[in-house]
Amino acid sequence: MTAEIEQKALGPFAALIGAPDGRKRLNTPSLILDLDVFDANVARMQAICDANGVNLRPHAKSHKSSRIAQAQREAGAIGVCCATINEAEAMAVAGVGGLLITAPLVTDVKISRLCDLCARAPDTMAVIDNADNALALSAAFAGRPALNVLVDLDIGHHRTGAVDPAAAFKLARMIAATPNLTLQGVQAYGGHFQHIPDAAKRGAAAAQGREQLKALLALMRDAQLETGIVTGAGTGTHGLDGSSGVFTEIQAGSYIFMDAEYATINYEGGDWPFGFSLFVQTSVLSANLPTQVTTDAGTKSFALNGPPPRIVSASLHGAAYGFAGDEHGRVMLEHGMGRPQIGERLECIVSHCDPTVCLYDYFVCVRGQKVVDVWKIDARGRA
Ligand code: PLP
Ligand code: MN
Repeated sequence: MTAEIEQKALGPFAALIGAPDGRKRLNTPSLILDLDVFDANVARMQAICDANGVNLRPHAKSHKSSRIAQAQREAGAIGVCCATINEAEAMAVAGVGGLLITAPLVTDVKISRLCDLCARAPDTMAVIDNADNALALSAAFAGRPALNVLVDLDIGHHRTGAVDPAAAFKLARMIAATPNLTLQGVQAYGGHFQHIPDAAKRGAAAAQGREQLKALLALMRDAQLETGIVTGAGTGTHGLDGSSGVFTEIQAGSYIFMDAEYATINYEGGDWPFGFSLFVQTSVLSANLPTQVTTDAGTKSFALNGPPPRIVSASLHGAAYGFAGDEHGRVMLEHGMGRPQIGERLECIVSHCDPTVCLYDYFVCVRGQKVVDVWKIDARGRA
């Protein structure tokens, strides 16, 4: 790689790599990944899944980065989930295998891209929740190696999936009898359980969802349909579902970063086993008012579908972070808090990790104050 290409690949951060105080010299707003915490999170989730006897196929929608997918694979993940064909293509280009696209692909354009993707990454799996889509996929894969598919069951999230076990069973039977498709099992993702704050209530809701899944699996096993893969769950239910004996694999995504949303949710039996590894660094650009300062990270720098960002910097720890525009944040200063000067850097736990990551081109990877690497968010922003 020439220096010029390398510079482009690493963006404006290349010069800071290796600098002992690089974290204090970033252009802001920047997305920071604390690798010590990140490494521990990756290892911890893998250890939990190993102990529960389930596979881990983490969701790449959270990071959109083939570099992170590779780290998860090296730690023991069997592949990664992708929300979109875009994400899956980026993973395949980087050589990440074991892809599962967790939403149905129904338009001609996406089905054609799926055909190309499977030529490059033949172990890719798709999900199906509709018989017409099964026929369209079957036609598209004629003359190619069969497409591996899962029947998608709605366990109350009401987003995708056959509406109940009977409907999913009917679809599974139809898929099994359809050429060019190989039924591999079931997907049942309860997105609505993940953020139930009370651990006992979350556990009860997830258990109810699993009853529907168990009903489908019983029907399929009686009919000798393939149920080798039973996939679902997120960070909120990874342990509850992972230890249930019903799932064979866990799709958790956010655990690598955590965010202000997961911070409001109680973990069963104590503290979360995952730390905060992802921060937006912003700087104060105006401080003329008595009770507030204005920063350079506004609604273009944080996802808005979550609780407000949480400032972790010592001087303003716990201060409320609000938005003052697309490019501006507002921090209200309470009595007894420090008063930041212009130019001061503040770091914040992000509101909601997945859509925040999608706003940035790079993770600036740090250990302590040192910038140790820059990882491209290579699956974002692709049409
Ligand atoms: N599986 C699917 C289908 C998802 O949509 C998501 C997240 O939205 C996940 C898994 C991961 O959930 P979490 O980020 O809460 O771990
Ligand atoms: Mn999310």
